[in-house]
Amino acid sequence: MYRSHDCGSLRASDINTEVTLAGWVQKSRDKGFMVWVDLRDRYGITQLIFDEERTDKKILEQAQNLGREFVIQVKGTVIERESKNDNMATGDIEILVKELNVLSESKTPPFTIEDKTDGGEELRMKYRYLDIRRNPVRENLIFRSKVAMEVRNFLAGKDFVEVETPVLIKSTPEGARDFVVPSRMNEGQFYALPQSPQTFKQLLMIGGMDKYFQIVKCFRDEDLRADRQPEFTQIDCEMSFVEQEDVLNIFEEMTRHLLKKVKNVEVAEFPRMTYNEAMEKYGNDKPDIRFGMEFGDLSAFAKARDFKIFNEAEIVVGIAVPGAGSYSRKEIDALVDWVKRPQVGALGMVYVKCNDDGSFKSSVDKFYNQDDLAKWAETTGAKPGDLICVLSGPAHKTRAQLSALRMELAERLDLRKADQFAPLWVVDFPLLEWDEESNRYHAMHHPFTSPKPEDIDKLSTDPGNVRANAYDLVLNGNEIGGGSVRIFDKKLQALMFEHLGFTEEEARAQFGFLMDAFEYGAPPHAGLAFGFDRLVAILGGQETIRDFIAFPKNNNGRDVMIDAPSKIDDVQLKELSLKVTV
Ligand code: ASP
Repeated sequence: MYRSHDCGSLRASDINTEVTLAGWVQKSRDKGFMVWVDLRDRYGITQLIFDEERTDKKILEQAQNLGREFVIQVKGTVIERESKNDNMATGDIEILVKELNVLSESKTPPFTIEDKTDGGEELRMKYRYLDIRRNPVRENLIFRSKVAMEVRNFLAGKDFVEVETPVLIKSTPEGARDFVVPSRMNEGQFYALPQSPQTFKQLLMIGGMDKYFQIVKCFRDEDLRADRQPEFTQIDCEMSFVEQEDVLNIFEEMTRHLLKKVKNVEVAEFPRMTYNEAMEKYGNDKPDIRFGMEFGDLSAFAKARDFKIFNEAEIVVGIAVPGAGSYSRKEIDALVDWVKRPQVGALGMVYVKCNDDGSFKSSVDKFYNQDDLAKWAETTGAKPGDLICVLSGPAHKTRAQLSALRMELAERLDLRKADQFAPLWVVDFPLLEWDEESNRYHAMHHPFTSPKPEDIDKLSTDPGNVRANAYDLVLNGNEIGGGSVRIFDKKLQALMFEHLGFTEEEARAQFGFLMDAFEYGAPPHAGLAFGFDRLVAILGGQETIRDFIAFPKNNNGRDVMIDAPSKIDDVQLKELSLKVTV
């Protein structure tokens, strides 16, 4: 028996018990005649004591030679600790050691195994197994497991069946590039790793599974933006004989369940907002609604004066920044510089200080009188003491810029509270999205998403304004889930492919299997997928998904621990009929 107890469980009530513990040496203090060792495992830390009077000399010597992160086993007696430590669960006791067994020695770790470590990100990733020994990382992984368990509990209770779908599949275009895997047995042919199990879950519905879910790895070969992983996990779900409303309700309930179970937070309501409304009010299809600062559309009255920049702009929009009316000239200039950064891309910013006495001071006083500015304040909801920031230009771009500013200011003003949860559904997304690069429409969600029946006629006349039965679940400014009602009619699916620029042959070659399946009695179905990594991170009160993944990849998509991707040898290449030209 390696241990009778773990390192987190002994208490004063165990005094005089003979125990065996095993774990890692967190640290030791050597006073010559006395040695203390903090022994650590997943469950906690227990203090060991070796002393001249009570411990065998050889064992004391052995204890003096223990290094950090050695793995040891000790036998001894639980005794009362002289100086108790209230910050430790085991702080009332210590173990007077009689036997010490070194199970495994350790080199000095490249960074300290402490909550606050001296190791940089890259170093910690290279030695991720050591990083996992640290409390914060371990706690995150345990938390992730707990969330997964709760998801399974909830969905199982609702009759969902967890079905595994294949990982070696054929390309399904969902907007990103596929990772491909060469097939040895089928020379010159490739599998693709799934960007999501989308088509399979639809086939499961046609197969009569009725309610499916899977906590599943998905792969997208995208240019990595900060905090994106090439492989990530989804909670993937699909249901038959349901309408959009049924899907929203059940996953709203699941989100509530998770918030209650893992955070003990009760959320009163999940507002629903159309995509258009979200764009107009927040300039963003995943608005953070924990704080106000809603957009005020100033176009109508801001354009009624002689200010050329506004008059030539498609829209003029502003936000009221609470309490920022007292910003100095320098602080405001810094904000203007911030919106002019290439990442944001505004050409400038107009501001209005709302003075405490109800008057206004703006950067465009030459063009607008106090009554004009009072209207701006009313429209943006600005109060005395606030600062109104106004941007203008083409609608889409300007909203995106103001949204970036809104989020930045909320961050600076500490309005994005990690312990506050504000979910909402964004619904009625556009079906199609214009892609400048390829000069054609793309499916905004994916090609299997159903247009709103009343908008189908517009597909050929006004494709950009066709709305989809598609929805996103947004939490604290992050999209945590998204899905749609699916097309289940072969003709409509064919029409959709046509509008997406597929020839009949291309559609057949890529999706023949799905079109065929639609000929054998497809039920109406709908579903969604949650981004599990992000969901866990947000529930955990953090936004970095890497911290919640056991073995993440770095910003270049590399696993620096196992050194992947890497070259393969010539024999392997030959077997796969591949030639590498770089
Ligand atoms: N497959 C979709 C995605 O990965 C989710 C869905 O439509 O259910 O975003």
